[in-house]
Amino acid sequence: MGSVQIVTTILAFAITAVAVWLAVRAVMKMVAVIRLGQPDPTRFGDKGTRTKTMLAETAGHTRMLRWSVVGAAHWFVMVGFIVLSLLVLEAYFEVVSPTGGLPLVGNWAIYGLVTEWLAILGLVSILVLIAIRLRNRPTRPGGKSRFTGSTMWQGYFVEGIILAVLIMGFVIRGFKVATDHFEYPVWAAPLSHAVGGVLPNWEAGVSIAALVKIAISMTWLIVIALNVTMGVAWHRFLAFFNIFFKRDPGANVSGLGALRPMTSQGKPLDFEEADPEKDQFGVAQVEQFTWKGLLDFSTCTECGRCQSQCPAWNTGKPLSPKLLVLSLRDHAYAKAPYLLAGGGKDLTGEEKATAAQLAHMDVLALAEAEKPLIGTAEEGGIIDPDVLWSCTTCGACVEQCPVDIEHVDHIVDMRRYQVLIESSFPSEAGVMLRNLENKGNPWGAPQNTREDWTKGLDFEVPRVGEVDDFEYLFWVGCAGAFEDRAKKTTRAVATLLNEAGVKFAILGEGETCSGDPARRIGNEFVFQMLAQQNVETLNEAFEGREKSKRKIVATCPHCFNTLGNEYGQLGGEFEVVHHTQLLAHLVSTGKLTPVQPVDGGVTYHDPCYLGRHNRVFAPPREVLGTAISGELTEMPRNSERSFCCGAGGARMWMEEKIGKRINVDRVEEAMSTGAKTVAVGCPFCSTMLNDGVNGKGAGEQVEVVDVASVLLRSVKPEQAPGGTDTERLPVAG
Ligand code: SF4
Ligand code: SF4
Repeated sequence: MGSVQIVTTILAFAITAVAVWLAVRAVMKMVAVIRLGQPDPTRFGDKGTRTKTMLAETAGHTRMLRWSVVGAAHWFVMVGFIVLSLLVLEAYFEVVSPTGGLPLVGNWAIYGLVTEWLAILGLVSILVLIAIRLRNRPTRPGGKSRFTGSTMWQGYFVEGIILAVLIMGFVIRGFKVATDHFEYPVWAAPLSHAVGGVLPNWEAGVSIAALVKIAISMTWLIVIALNVTMGVAWHRFLAFFNIFFKRDPGANVSGLGALRPMTSQGKPLDFEEADPEKDQFGVAQVEQFTWKGLLDFSTCTECGRCQSQCPAWNTGKPLSPKLLVLSLRDHAYAKAPYLLAGGGKDLTGEEKATAAQLAHMDVLALAEAEKPLIGTAEEGGIIDPDVLWSCTTCGACVEQCPVDIEHVDHIVDMRRYQVLIESSFPSEAGVMLRNLENKGNPWGAPQNTREDWTKGLDFEVPRVGEVDDFEYLFWVGCAGAFEDRAKKTTRAVATLLNEAGVKFAILGEGETCSGDPARRIGNEFVFQMLAQQNVETLNEAFEGREKSKRKIVATCPHCFNTLGNEYGQLGGEFEVVHHTQLLAHLVSTGKLTPVQPVDGGVTYHDPCYLGRHNRVFAPPREVLGTAISGELTEMPRNSERSFCCGAGGARMWMEEKIGKRINVDRVEEAMSTGAKTVAVGCPFCSTMLNDGVNGKGAGEQVEVVDVASVLLRSVKPEQAPGGTDTERLPVAG
């Protein structure tokens, strides 16, 4: 070993020792913070599926590849990172000797070939990612940036380090070529040979370049170890765990559909026994999130994909799912020293720590602990109430997040405490909650008018109890029973089912609200009250039937979601379909035959709780495909990337005071397609988009109607009058 190698070896190992020590300390800190969260025993089951999903999502980059260029570039950088780790390891042999290399594989041409090409592709990819970050930088004039609010220096730092390490890899190899110590032929390592062609024959160059490479890599490790909230770097390690522990390991996208039940100490809360002095009602302190919540916050890469899709953010509201997650993360880590010292408030608001425990506490941690989780800027709050209440629970953020963060569950958990304990929520929603408690529907309509929609139909609508041999229980829903426009959809569906010979029956006055608006605003108490009543009624209606024969068809995607995905949490197991699914089946099996195509151009708006939350994208399109002339015109934001109408998450019953109205934004997009008909599959979307169209003074030119009404017009053109919402649809010929 020459004198240069003695120096490079000592320096390389010294900086590595410091970096590893700091990294171990950082990991321990991070684990300690995540362990502060509440238990969640549901995250450990079905390890086989979890492992498979984690490997598939990581190797396949399933979410990222939807953003094709970014996804492909990130994939090569990820693979490059694994290879880089091998090459950094190799550098430790090179600081010791200019001829050094990895044992066993180091002399193998295939190893040289694979690492060379992955490094070349990694180099190109990281340049692409840097270019994308620069092109989308928040300071760029004009246009919105998904990076607004992200810590930009951290992104540039991480990408710069990768670039530098990759370049140093070629410099090391180049020096090996120049000094004739390189084992791989030109065909296996062309770029290394090219670099070697311009470098001097200098043996010390190999070890010095290897030292530089190690120093750069260890600088990265030291910086991230000193910044445990640097998600853009830490996600490389945390993402595996976050994906492994996701809520629904087998689902396409986890954290959509059903909400996580309200839990205390890891157990679902039953309001017949729950006690607010002993049980946690929602989340009022950051440590009341589960450990998975804290892992979610730690894993955020600050990529801003969620923000770019969020309807609230895109219409000028203060809510950005990314900024919400970052605020919770920063708060958790800033408050952690206080919590780890034994601090925290019990459920009655009393301090848990003794004065002695907090005697030497960092004042900044103490100050952080005093901040309310929900509060305005003046109150020093971490999450502003306007942020919390702007969410429509549309799920666009969850859908886009490449590391499976479950934003909607976290937002609703915070709402639960605000509603149940603080009684703090937008006052206008109070009427809806009172109506749910007193009348069983958000409109406060008398229960004995639930069947009014059946009046005037030229056939009898059977009630459960009057008939037993029904195949489908038709769940009408509150909108379908009381809201004039939705009543037309209900009548259209009933007419089509009757026409197709489907045996169905309704609950009539036995039905009550599914509980969706109560649950999504955070009032779990009212939700459970309504849901338990419905589960009882439905179990009675289906008594003696196995699950596959307990079939329900619903026109409202919110009811569809709640009955199908959430009632199981309360002992109600049913096979629930949306009416567009059943209608698509009836058309495809020849039970319904469209005869007169609807003309004038039709576009389709995917309801969030039908599409994104429940992956029903094709059936409504199939129905429309048979009922209209020409092709369906898609809006730019459709299917998984559909844009919310603004009514979900109980926003239907809250005023939209900030920014542009979400429904107007969506209507402008629909109208930009030139379609004369905007088909929907949800009564709330129908209301919101109709309001939007009327608000733009386009009510005469553009019609918003349910898919069922479009089909009915095509199947039974003569049926048009009579309140089935089909009268204005233009027909071909
Ligand atoms: S659920 Fe929708 S509205 Fe709520 S934060 Fe996510 S993207 Fe925004
Ligand atoms: S998409 Fe996920 S990782 Fe990206 S900023 Fe949003 S929460 Fe963070």
